Amino acid sequence: MAGKYDHIVVGAGIEGSWTAYHLTKLGLKVLLLEQFTLPHTRGSSHGQTRITRFGYVEDFHAALMEEAYRKWSELEREAAETLFVETGALYLAGKSEYTDLENLISNLNKVPHVSHSKLTNDELKKQYPQFCLPKDYIACYEKNAGVLLASRCLNAVQKRFKSLGGTLIDGFEVLRINPGPPAEVYGKKTWKGNSDGRVNNEESFTANSVIVCAGPWSGPFLKKTFGLNLPLTPQRINVFYWHIKNINQGGLPTLFIDLANNGEYYGLPPLEYPDMVKLVSHHQEDADPNKRDVSSTINDKNIKEYVKERFPTLEPYPSIVETCMYTNTPDEACILDKHPTYQNIIFGCGFSGTGFKISPVVGHILGNMALGKPPVHNIKPFALSRFAKTGMPSKLQ
Ligand SMILES: Cc1cc2nc3c(=O)[nH]c(=O)nc-3n(C[C@H](O)[C@H](O)[C@H](O)COP(=O)(O)OP(=O)(O)OC[C@H]3O[C@@H](n4cnc5c(N)ncnc54)[C@H](O)[C@@H]3O)c2cc1C
Repeated sequence: MAGKYDHIVVGAGIEGSWTAYHLTKLGLKVLLLEQFTLPHTRGSSHGQTRITRFGYVEDFHAALMEEAYRKWSELEREAAETLFVETGALYLAGKSEYTDLENLISNLNKVPHVSHSKLTNDELKKQYPQFCLPKDYIACYEKNAGVLLASRCLNAVQKRFKSLGGTLIDGFEVLRINPGPPAEVYGKKTWKGNSDGRVNNEESFTANSVIVCAGPWSGPFLKKTFGLNLPLTPQRINVFYWHIKNINQGGLPTLFIDLANNGEYYGLPPLEYPDMVKLVSHHQEDADPNKRDVSSTINDKNIKEYVKERFPTLEPYPSIVETCMYTNTPDEACILDKHPTYQNIIFGCGFSGTGFKISPVVGHILGNMALGKPPVHNIKPFALSRFAKTGMPSKLQ
């Protein structure tokens, strides 16, 4: 199986898949390696839905969205299937979040084709009787926001990558990398019954550069392989689905993000399961991705109270619970960078529960790093060095 490639990408989640696809589109020979048999539900990119939107509080995130939207819609055309559903988004803000809301609106104003409007508390009450919100709450409605059909998107990117000649090997765990150059990537099949009848011997591949997009495994992998200490905290995220009590009284007509408490709660209208709203909290329990479900307690106390108080039209308990992983950085912006010594070792990680929508741009940024090309966006906010001075959280806004 050994072979020579221009670039090797470790991890076939959405970030690694877009990176591999981007490089293959440029005519390069690319190998994408995935430790588990695809499709799998152990990382961060599975499941049916992910929010996408232009509305961001931070301008460096908002600046990525035009390219992201364009590339998702290109992929949708190429794949000839629906990957995006426009639902609109309601950004809710109490008094303490008015400045965040103003920043978000100012970022929306920079994109002329995005239609949005501000809502007073009275307008909110009239237009969205489903919500039961405090008197100081106001909102902004963004029409163009919506939902990416996540598993379909992942499948579509990988299909396009392969159709352009890219090589995807799943069930293959990368164990170590010798940076070279050229870099040597060593690993082995994660199951013994290989279709070619081989046993579990180590195999290796070479390439000019290696891009590591290992999701929640990134921290331990980069530490073990290169001694890098990245401030990454994987979390097990319980994804809750809540039944609408009476569909005639309305469920959730649009997706929403409540900006209170660092955007703690967000919800999506019924898309996956009839008459069920996906409503999730953004910060949950730390977990080792290899032991994700060892402590399988479902901590739903706070979210149950939130739903009971704010959504009287929903049953006050979740009917379905699914599981996924976040990988958080202290400031909740991702890390896109090169190894400080080995310039041909690149990594993208720490997407902190917001990386799906921007993955086409992440692929472009990481691809440019691998090729030694200048960045097309402001990537300073994603540099590893932002944590170097203090080793402590640095709020980037
Ligand atoms: C519940 C939930 C809701 C979310 N909602 C949103 C949202 O609304 N909008 C949004 O934009 N984002 C959202 N996100 C975040 C987004 O889904 C993630 O940021 C994104 O999927 C991260 O992708 P990834 O490729 O970095 O990680 P992963 O999908 O985990 O992929 C990493 C891959 O690397 C593989 N790997 C690891 N180590 C090795 C190795 N040694 N050898 C080979 N392969 C290896 C893993 O098996 C895995 O497949 C959400 C995430 C969750 C969990």
